[in-house]
Amino acid sequence: TPERLVTGEERPEDLDATIRPQTLGDFVGQAAARANLDVFIRAARARGEALDHVLFVGPPGLGKTTLAQIVSRELGVNFRATSGPVIAKAGDLAALLTNLEERDVLFIDEIHRMSPAVEEILYPAMEDFQLDLIIGEGPAARSVRIDLAKFTLVGATTRLGLLTTPLRDRFGIPVRLDFYTTEELEHIVKRGARIMGIGMTADGATEIARRSRGTPRIAGRLLRRVRDFAVVAGKEAIDRDTADAALSRLDVDSIGLDALDMRYLTTIASSFGGGPVGIETIAAALSEPRDAIEEIVEPFLIQRGFVQRTPRGRLLTAHAFRHLGLAVPSGPDA
Ligand code: ADP
Repeated sequence: TPERLVTGEERPEDLDATIRPQTLGDFVGQAAARANLDVFIRAARARGEALDHVLFVGPPGLGKTTLAQIVSRELGVNFRATSGPVIAKAGDLAALLTNLEERDVLFIDEIHRMSPAVEEILYPAMEDFQLDLIIGEGPAARSVRIDLAKFTLVGATTRLGLLTTPLRDRFGIPVRLDFYTTEELEHIVKRGARIMGIGMTADGATEIARRSRGTPRIAGRLLRRVRDFAVVAGKEAIDRDTADAALSRLDVDSIGLDALDMRYLTTIASSFGGGPVGIETIAAALSEPRDAIEEIVEPFLIQRGFVQRTPRGRLLTAHAFRHLGLAVPSGPDA
């Protein structure tokens, strides 16, 4: 995947921990999800029981890991974290599970990337808090059953469609996260600036928020870059002009699209007449992996109404042609 400033995926320079909210009250946006979690957490605490398993679904950088940490903090229990691709063998997961204490939170990021063998042992663990292990090999092999502490599994995935149905069905609390509004991102940017100790005008925050693709992680990253420009320019506070100058130099356009988004849109517009065109064809034309396009380019463009997914392929909307400064083609597909 190309080096992108506006990807929601974590990059090495992200200092996410510095602006990460610590409580549900600090967490901006996702009002419905927060309200529901608040009820379920209070109920679990009142009963002294483990919270039901929670599944967070949504594009990268929207706060799934942050919410998982907040859930464990609000429950007053330990937080253990791993991720689907990291758990190589069933034994690795068994080791994690047997170390959990009552009501602990086990967070599995990218849970759709767990291997089938690992997933298999997760089912009885989630359902009956039991682990079925095979000990030994050949004719001497026998199966042992281990009782686990009643824990809460918190899973996170960017791709609900890649989760197997049996796994999906074992989460009592599915939570879908949506892209943030500009207003919500303004709050996050202002809060971030306060924590970093840099001045921020209201229109400066609006400018960064509008260019953050609805994603808090991107807002934080753009904020840090803009701060560098402001410091070098000797500004006490980030205002609209400072933010605009910095972000334009970094190739982030007025609504947060970068060179890759523009390449995607112009390719469909000029090489394929606006579509519909299949995802494989687009991937080949852009020389980018299909997965990357589906996971980090399209969700935001679809949400902003630039592209539609149709049974016959991707279709650019009139809105996209206008943003590109191109004439909107007439005809049934326009
Ligand atoms: P995900 O797990 O969905 O990829 P994270 O939880 O790691 O995303 O969040 C990415 C960054 O965005 C972190 O720095 C986090 O502090 C910040 N962030 C996410 N959601 C919010 C929010 N609602 N308010 C403030 N900051 C947030």
